[in-house]
Amino acid sequence: MPVVVFPSPVGFLSLLLAVCVAASGCATLDEKRKESPYFSEDRFRNIDNDEGITDKGFWSLVRWKLFSRREAEVIPDAADESPATKKITAADLIAPPGKMRITWIGHATAFISVHRDGRVTNILTDPVFGGIFTVSRRTEMPLPKEALPPVDLVVVSHSHYDHCDLDDLRFLNEKNPQLKIVLPEGQREWGLKNGLRGAEDMRWWTKQNVGGVELHFLPAQHWSLRVPGDRMQFHWGSYAFVAGKTAVYFAGDTGYASHFRRIAEKFPQGFTAALMPIGAYAPRWFMKPTHIDPPEAVAAALELKAKIILPVHWATFRQSDEKMMEPILYLQREAAAKGIRYRHWVPGESYEIDIR
Ligand SMILES: [Zn+2]
Ligand SMILES: [Zn+2]
Repeated sequence: MPVVVFPSPVGFLSLLLAVCVAASGCATLDEKRKESPYFSEDRFRNIDNDEGITDKGFWSLVRWKLFSRREAEVIPDAADESPATKKITAADLIAPPGKMRITWIGHATAFISVHRDGRVTNILTDPVFGGIFTVSRRTEMPLPKEALPPVDLVVVSHSHYDHCDLDDLRFLNEKNPQLKIVLPEGQREWGLKNGLRGAEDMRWWTKQNVGGVELHFLPAQHWSLRVPGDRMQFHWGSYAFVAGKTAVYFAGDTGYASHFRRIAEKFPQGFTAALMPIGAYAPRWFMKPTHIDPPEAVAAALELKAKIILPVHWATFRQSDEKMMEPILYLQREAAAKGIRYRHWVPGESYEIDIR
């Protein structure tokens, strides 16, 4: 099942062709994955029953793309154009002393700069700087990737191409020789074989210190696939970044499931901010097991006791049936109804936090 999908049958068929070309490479698997407590019956698992994911094979995709009717729009007057990016410089990304600055680069890519005890730690989530396969990027980069400041840590939530771009990971590793690239459990071997010297992987519920930040790898409800043969052979997940009493959550790609409650139990103090995906939700019959919609993003953020939602995974790539501006307008409505704050931002804009 492809990762990025087109709304039109023609686009869908051209994507299938692209996937066939990509599939001419072979899967790179790590024998050690089988030792994971989250790996059984030849694949990584979700916490909850995940038949909703595994039951949806190729023919469900064909049904969606070629035969199913569009679901009614939630926000009927939402525009189908992506917002204009705010252009910035490298200096704009760096947090001042005692602060954490989170900048949306586009899609699931956020630049998190932590300035604590005289030391700056720069983090990128799911770095993807260009288009993917034949899918064009609809928001410009806030700055050229060559202009990015030094990066200490990259975290990848899962292997789908809209989150894990090998060329961009290689670019970052070459530019930052000391870079640590954290991948989900089972994917380290793939990273090393593909020339990512800084590749390592983490298991759910483990943590490590990177610079002035405590990094936690946590569950999500999703799946993984790059080429035939590696479907669900690399895990997927979410991350938390903790500095002092400040904790920021990055949800990756996820359906709504019990992991949010479990994470909330582990972080009873809640989160200062939560980077939540809000796009790629329509049609619900197809997307619900693997992608939350804005009401579910709000419910999850409330469960996590997040003080503010920083919405990502919208406007950048067309992956699903909803119009480009619908996710943020839908979030606006739901956040107001449930009394939670959210950042109404465009790529290049930031949210800043005092580190306590
Ligand atoms: Zn995904
Ligand atoms: Zn995604």
